[in-house]
Amino acid sequence: MYRAFLIKYAEIGIKGKNRFIFENILKRNIANALAKLRDGYEISKEQGRVFIECPEGFDYDDTIEALQHVFGVAGICPVYVIDNIEFENLKKGVGDYVEQAYPDKNFTFKVEARRADKSYPVTSPEICAKTGAHLLDRFPEMKVNVHDPDVEFMVEVRNRGYVYSEVIPGPQGMPVGSSGKAMLLLSGGIDSPVAGWMIAKRGVTIDAVYFHAPPYTSERAKQKVVDLAKIVSRYAGPIRLHVVNFTDIQLYIYEQCPHEELTIIMRRYMMRIAEAIAEKRGCQALITGESIGQVASQTVESLLTTNAVCKLPVFRPVIGFDKQDIVEISQKIGAFETSIQPFEDCCTIFVAKHPVTKPILSVIEKSEKKLSEKIDELVEKALETVEVINVRW
Ligand code: ATP
Ligand code: MG
Repeated sequence: MYRAFLIKYAEIGIKGKNRFIFENILKRNIANALAKLRDGYEISKEQGRVFIECPEGFDYDDTIEALQHVFGVAGICPVYVIDNIEFENLKKGVGDYVEQAYPDKNFTFKVEARRADKSYPVTSPEICAKTGAHLLDRFPEMKVNVHDPDVEFMVEVRNRGYVYSEVIPGPQGMPVGSSGKAMLLLSGGIDSPVAGWMIAKRGVTIDAVYFHAPPYTSERAKQKVVDLAKIVSRYAGPIRLHVVNFTDIQLYIYEQCPHEELTIIMRRYMMRIAEAIAEKRGCQALITGESIGQVASQTVESLLTTNAVCKLPVFRPVIGFDKQDIVEISQKIGAFETSIQPFEDCCTIFVAKHPVTKPILSVIEKSEKKLSEKIDELVEKALETVEVINVRW
C-alpha cells in the first residue's frame, strides 16, 4: 500500500547556513543505501524533508531496513500516495488509507494538512476539517481528539496527495561525511566496533587499522576483523581497512622489555603506527574502544601512558561505559555475534601474568630505550607492508 517514504531528520535541521550541505550529504547517503537494493528510487529534498519515491516492485521491509542504517535519519514515515488530488478524491484516498492501515478503528485521531501549492482550491484548515468529517462518517468507531490523539494523520498536497501517520525510528545522528575523518583502531573485540559506530554516528568518515601478528594470530582472526569492519560499514559507508603486520615489533618488544610492561609498550606502538597511517590518510583523530578500568591497559594511568605518544586527539566514545552498555550497542548494531567468536587477539598472546596497572611514563620511556637499535626500522617496515582492504557492505 505504500509507494513512498518521507524522511524526518532532527539535528541537521538546525545547522543554519550549512543546512543545505548536510541535507545534500544525507540525500546522497540515502541514495547510496537504496541503490544497493535496486535501481529506480527517486530521492528529492524539499522544505526540510527528504522524499523517497519507490520504484515498481520495491521491497518495503528491505527499504526500511536500509534506511535504518543511514545516520541522520531520525524517522521514516511510510507514505500512501493519492495520484488524483481533486479534493473529493483526496478525501476518499485518505479514507482508503485509514481503512487499510488501521484494521482496528478504536482510536482517537486528528488530521494535519499542508499545501505545497497555495493555488490548490482548498485551504489547509479546510482540508483538515473536511477530511476529518469524512473519516468520522466512514468509520464511526473513530473519534477526534485534537489535543492528544492516538494517531495523527498528515495530509500533504503537492503534485500528488500524500498521507502518513506512522514514524518508524531511524538511527538518528548526523550524516556520515559531514564531519571529518578518523582512524579507528579495530580489533576483533566487542568494544572497538561499537566505538567506530558511535563516532560514525556523529557524521565522521571512518578508516580503520588492525594489528595482525601472524602466525600467532590466525587468518580467521583477521577475517573476523574484516567481518566486523563490514558490519560497521553498513552504517559508516566504505571503510579502508589497513592491516599492519605487527609480529616482528611484538617479538622484539617481548625480547627487550620487561614482560609486565609489554602490553603498555605494545599499545604505545599501535598508537604511533595508527597515527602515522592516519596522518597519511588525512584523518584528524584516532578512535579506540577503551573503557576506564576494563583491563590493566585501560586504567587511567595506562591511558595517560598510551595517550602520551599521540598528537592527534584520541576519541574514546565508550570510555565511561560499563561493559553491559557496550554489549547492548554491539547487539543492536549486529556486531556482537561476530565479536564473540573465539579467535585469539594479538594482545592476548603475549600478555604477562601480572601486567603493570599503574605504569609510570618515565619508566616506560626508559624501557622503550632498549628498543632503540631496531625499532625504527621495524616500524618503517610495518608501514611499508600495510595491506589495504576496502570493506563495504
Ligand atoms: P576490544 O573489545 O575493542 O578488542 P578490549 O577491551 O579487548 O577492546 P584492548 O585489547 O585493551 O581492549 O584494546 C583497547 C583498544 O585498542 C581496542 O578497543 C582497540 O581500539 C585497540 N586495539 C587493541 N588491539 C588491537 C588490534 N589488534 N588492532 C587494532 N586495534 C587494537
Ligand atoms: Mg581486544
